[in-house]
Amino acid sequence: MSDSKDVTLDPDNWAAYRALAHRMVDEAIDHLDQVRERPAWRSMPDDVRNTFRSALPEDPTSLDIVYKEYRETVGAYPMGNVHPRFWGWYMGASNFTGALGDFLAAVDGSNLGGGDTGASQVEQQVIDWLKGIVGFPQDASGTLTSGGSMANLVAHTVIRNLAAGYDVRKEGIAALDNSLRFYASDQVHSCHQKALETLGLGSKALVEIESDDRHRMRLDALQCVIAQDRADGLQPACVIGTAGSTNTGAIDDLTAIADLCEREGIWFHVDGCIGGVLGLAKQHAHLIAGIERAGSVAIDPHKWLHTPFEAGAVLIKDADAHFATFEMHGPYLQYQERGAIAGKFLADYGLELSRGFRALKIWMAFKEHCAAKFGQLIAQDISLARYMETQIIAHPLLELVAPVNLNIVCFRHVADDEDAAKVLNTEVMLRIQESGIAVPSDTTVQGKYGLRCAFNNHRTRREDIDVFLSAVVHTADQILPKRSA
Ligand SMILES: *Cc1c(COP(=O)(O)O)cnc(C)c1O
Repeated sequence: MSDSKDVTLDPDNWAAYRALAHRMVDEAIDHLDQVRERPAWRSMPDDVRNTFRSALPEDPTSLDIVYKEYRETVGAYPMGNVHPRFWGWYMGASNFTGALGDFLAAVDGSNLGGGDTGASQVEQQVIDWLKGIVGFPQDASGTLTSGGSMANLVAHTVIRNLAAGYDVRKEGIAALDNSLRFYASDQVHSCHQKALETLGLGSKALVEIESDDRHRMRLDALQCVIAQDRADGLQPACVIGTAGSTNTGAIDDLTAIADLCEREGIWFHVDGCIGGVLGLAKQHAHLIAGIERAGSVAIDPHKWLHTPFEAGAVLIKDADAHFATFEMHGPYLQYQERGAIAGKFLADYGLELSRGFRALKIWMAFKEHCAAKFGQLIAQDISLARYMETQIIAHPLLELVAPVNLNIVCFRHVADDEDAAKVLNTEVMLRIQESGIAVPSDTTVQGKYGLRCAFNNHRTRREDIDVFLSAVVHTADQILPKRSA
């Protein structure tokens, strides 16, 4: 008999795991089934927070105890975005099929860097579907990313390398003689600045163009800035059109930007992290007409497709340029015509080599529900925003701080002046978050502070909006000093 026992992470007894795993699924279903009865968010008490200070485990603990700890200290304090009254920032409410997809993807275990696998077929099919949704030709390329920030970074890398006109991969950006310029509206998402900083172009490469009263990029201003930049010896590289701004859901005039880019010979990129999937809702698809003329589009399935985090995507029409930007193979990872690594190497289209099987959660949900259902959910969110807009307009103590362009409502409780409005509404927001009634966030739009509700939540109903607006009015009333008659 050998005195060395083989070590593995697999259990000695699968039967005990089976029962526990089934219980986890049962309790996950209860968790979602009862989501409405729980607070949208709650703060973590210190004694719970302190449990996270324990050192690296030196002794084993049985999984049922680990799971119990998870339930009490982690699962009891989520962000809250799966709750019907969570509308802060711009999250996405996840979905159970997607959660099962993530579980199955982990069990499958495939690394999506490449390989002749079912998983790699699924990712390529999802990318093909996304091309169809934005009206891109099937010979465009694309890749799934961790999110919109990474999707935009991948696109900007391709654009930078093409615009430089020399081998940037070899020579680096130090050899750039003209500074590259990327133009976007002043409502552009901050990830573009981060991307251009990361690419070594500097934040000055992002030129923010003033937006109009509906927060769309002013194209007359854009045209002037481009002409001036050319006169100054700078090199216009890209116009970023926003299809659904994060602040207010504003959609730039994509057709006009496409025309301008064609005239000027500039790359047209669309940040469609919010509105890039509007094509699924036929009655709203016209809002993003022109997106199909872009050279690249970033979309974010973990937002309006409700994919569990993380899942972003970038699509690039010039598949060769995309490949030429990222293709890289060490001696330990060479192409083969046959065998386990044959086929398209997905890591040649982005920064990551090892890649998760993000595609499965999207693929399963699309198959189960079909494309039209996602379109209905998008339309439902837009009508929820319209409903809230009407309620606010009708209420004497509430006011909009920005036009409702899409599915985002920026509003506030009235106050004597801008400073008072900010103090009052911030306090209202925090108290409502802490009460667990709802999670709105806040923003400042063209100098006006307000609360912000983004509806990309398939669980929200009109009555949730009624509950929330009464809470806003009631909370403000408690905060405001009582005026004696
Ligand atoms: C959310 C968002 C991003 C960033 O996407 P992440 O998935 O959060 O990285 C980029 N652009 C817009 C318009 C967004 O709304």
